Amino acid sequence: MNVKNCRKCGRIFNYMGGPPICQACLEKQEEQFQTVKAYIRENRDATVAQTAEACEVDVNQIKQWIREERLELSSTEGAEIVCESCGTPILSGRYCDKCKREMANGLNASIKKPEMPKPEVKKERPGEGMHFLNRK
Ligand SMILES: [Zn+2]
Ligand SMILES: [Zn+2]
Repeated sequence: MNVKNCRKCGRIFNYMGGPPICQACLEKQEEQFQTVKAYIRENRDATVAQTAEACEVDVNQIKQWIREERLELSSTEGAEIVCESCGTPILSGRYCDKCKREMANGLNASIKKPEMPKPEVKKERPGEGMHFLNRK
């Protein structure tokens, strides 16, 4: 049996996979989500901070929903959510359309290369340069 501490309330619960949150907190979160959704429907121009305050929901929670694409901002003004790859303001999700497209094309593999080892450069091919000198 897999037992975890709830990330929200700290209570120990039977972990079934997904986010480490107990059933009670999950239900509460879902309730909050519905509140936020209803609020946004009525207040299209509300910022994340305004929504959080009006619905008494944590700002980070709202941002998480936006990242999960459960919510979408009506405007990128204020740039509260930016592309994790290039920093462009986006309405929802984790990446802007451009980065998403590049990722779909498989280009992100070549963009993200932290210290690619270059084995070719280190190989010195011994003998080849010496051959000429040793001819005599
Ligand atoms: Zn909990
Ligand atoms: Zn981007």
